[in-house]
Amino acid sequence: MIGIKNSLTVDVEDYFQVAAFADSISKSKWNDYKLRVENNTIRLLNLFDQHKVKATFFVLGWVAKRCPKLVEKIAEQGHEVACHGYSHQLIYKQSQQVFRDETKKAKDILEDIVGKKILGYRAASYSITKKSLWALDILADLDFVYDSSIVPVRHDLYGIPGMPRFPHLLSSPSGKKIIEFPPSTLSLPGMNLPVGGGGYFRLFPYWFSKGALKWVNSHDKSPFIFYLHPWEIDVNQPRMQGKLFSKFRHYNNLNKCYSRLESLLYDFDFTTVNEVLVNLKFLDSGVSDA
Ligand SMILES: [Zn+2]
Repeated sequence: MIGIKNSLTVDVEDYFQVAAFADSISKSKWNDYKLRVENNTIRLLNLFDQHKVKATFFVLGWVAKRCPKLVEKIAEQGHEVACHGYSHQLIYKQSQQVFRDETKKAKDILEDIVGKKILGYRAASYSITKKSLWALDILADLDFVYDSSIVPVRHDLYGIPGMPRFPHLLSSPSGKKIIEFPPSTLSLPGMNLPVGGGGYFRLFPYWFSKGALKWVNSHDKSPFIFYLHPWEIDVNQPRMQGKLFSKFRHYNNLNKCYSRLESLLYDFDFTTVNEVLVNLKFLDSGVSDA
């Protein structure tokens, strides 16, 4: 145990809303699916409670509108509620106006439920790229204090290679400031490897993820930020149609995720993004009560 407090984060969305299946399931069909997000999120809340760990939950506005009690429960248990947008569409495929309107809608819904200012934002599928940096201006306009959407890697769907790997103050294209906490990576010769959760946590053996994350703490001397989705611990979720590679990304090692998460909670210290940013002096303590 090294003692650095890392950020534990959950992107609260359901199994049929993921980018991997966006080609086969349009948003207009979402209401046809039975929600599993509520039960899966409660399982995570119970696990975090057992480990006495607080986390940040980036909640999709669409989910918050249908499950306000779940958002209340997350907040009541002392976790941080943050925003995962409204409709889970990729930002670089949206117009600026649509992005602004639906992000505001999601933030308003969450703030109404928890009665507190929402500070943090994470884009659907980390879709703030070079093509959509304008989103940072809109996030700053909407009073978001931090973002966690820019992955410093080369990838087919997201990422800006060469961006800083650790929390930093970022200037939007029009010069507004927002704190960026990039999803965690391991620096290798010539590339950064994502090691901060999700599909990578399911793909790599646990010893590798643990070693990489320990390296971020001990060698890079930085907290890391870990993310997962409620559907990643749900082995019984209905199987969807889709491209072979999308199905691999979504279903690979789902049965190993929960026990790996238990090991992770045992091996590292975690807290909310807000508290880590306070520890790093990016935020004053008490900013969340504003
Ligand atoms: Zn998502």
